[in-house]
Amino acid sequence: MEFRLSDEEEAFQSAVRRFGDRVLRPNEAEIDNRGAIPASVLAGMAELGLLAMPVPERYGGIGASAVLTELAAEEIGRGDSSMATAVFFLLEAGWGHLLARFGTEETRTEVLPPVCAGKAFLGIATTEPTGGSDLAAMRTTSRRDGAAFVLRGEKSFISGVEEARSLGGGHLTLTKGAAGGFNFLYVPTRTDGISTQRFHNMGRMGISTGSLTYQDARVPEKYLVGAESKGFECAMEGFRIARTFVAAACVGAAERALETGMAYIRERPAFGQPLGKFEGIQFELVDLWTQVEAVKWQCRRAAWLLDTYTLKGDTAHRSEVDRAVAAVKLTAPPLAFECVKRVMMWFGAAGYTTDVGLERGLRGIMSYLVGAEGGLNIMRIILGRELLGREFLPYK
Ligand SMILES: Cc1cc2nc3c(=O)[nH]c(=O)nc-3n(C[C@H](O)[C@H](O)[C@H](O)COP(=O)(O)OP(=O)(O)OC[C@H]3O[C@@H](n4cnc5c(N)ncnc54)[C@H](O)[C@@H]3O)c2cc1C
Repeated sequence: MEFRLSDEEEAFQSAVRRFGDRVLRPNEAEIDNRGAIPASVLAGMAELGLLAMPVPERYGGIGASAVLTELAAEEIGRGDSSMATAVFFLLEAGWGHLLARFGTEETRTEVLPPVCAGKAFLGIATTEPTGGSDLAAMRTTSRRDGAAFVLRGEKSFISGVEEARSLGGGHLTLTKGAAGGFNFLYVPTRTDGISTQRFHNMGRMGISTGSLTYQDARVPEKYLVGAESKGFECAMEGFRIARTFVAAACVGAAERALETGMAYIRERPAFGQPLGKFEGIQFELVDLWTQVEAVKWQCRRAAWLLDTYTLKGDTAHRSEVDRAVAAVKLTAPPLAFECVKRVMMWFGAAGYTTDVGLERGLRGIMSYLVGAEGGLNIMRIILGRELLGREFLPYK
């Protein structure tokens, strides 16, 4: 067992942390206020190889392991705790990897290089207005018509709808196939018959969320990801990967909040001594730090499991992977939320101001509590299924 990062991993982690300190933190307020990630930030990420980093070099990525990507996700969550940059990062990493693995050669060479260069967006579209947890009940259809699929329906609460229209790019889209089963398709947003609408969220303002409506939108068959009618399992693999990076970004945001809090309670006087001298505050810090440290290593182990099994196509250890991934997606977001909330309270009234900026983290992390990349109860259902067996699933 080896708990130390390799020299290469440590050097990469330091480089991404420097990027977070020098580029993300100074831009954090603007990302939140302007409603977009500045082009200069995306260019900086592309230069460091941070966009869709697991994608192989021949398609423009750096062929990074899940562990290296997890480390980068921690740093990006730490640099922009509003989560906007982290969402952009992890969507491209998770779904870029999936397209590189299961897309056709023509689609990989067409779609991935601009995504890795920060010149196009790649996201995921599964959720619909009638629900996101119960994917089997989805209504959007894809009907084969010659060498194309024709899409009808609507996806809702989809990250990056505006970025995919303005920058170019699209979403890996899960649809019901006419032949039964699910078709997973890359769908460029600038396709005739697709309209988008941005929703008004409370947080992670730097990346859009909205709907995609398909009115007989034609997508060439080369955009099929995985086999026809077999798209569901393919999408689930993407979620295993993306959820690990969501949890890692939350760990980074939690560590940043605790560091901000520690600097403050070392200095802020109350009753003649620094706040940090009072056990009521100090013990809270210690309890939170201990939990973050545990979840951080759980995240790294989940990434290691992905490298060791999932990314090599080994399905024999799927249960172990599912348990590890669902556990970190279940614990990291609420823990990060709690860290930010507690530190805001240590700051007293100042914590409630937008100048201190802790509230950006609170608003952003909340997206993962309400459902982004799978609701917390869905993680509990996955864990219950893996611990007790499929016969204990609470639905048929
Ligand atoms: C900011 C943001 C960005 C998002 N980006 C994307 C995206 O890019 N692509 C995409 O496809 N989706 C995206 N989503 C949607 C997300 O995947 C869904 O929110 C999630 O799947 C839950 O679906 P829902 O919101 O329809 O809630 P529902 O499925 O209606 O569930 C509502 C609540 O009930 C709980 N619940 C559901 N079933 C059960 C059960 N059997 N037992 C107990 N509790 C249950 C859920 O956990 C949830 O808390 C995003 C969401 C947010 C908030």
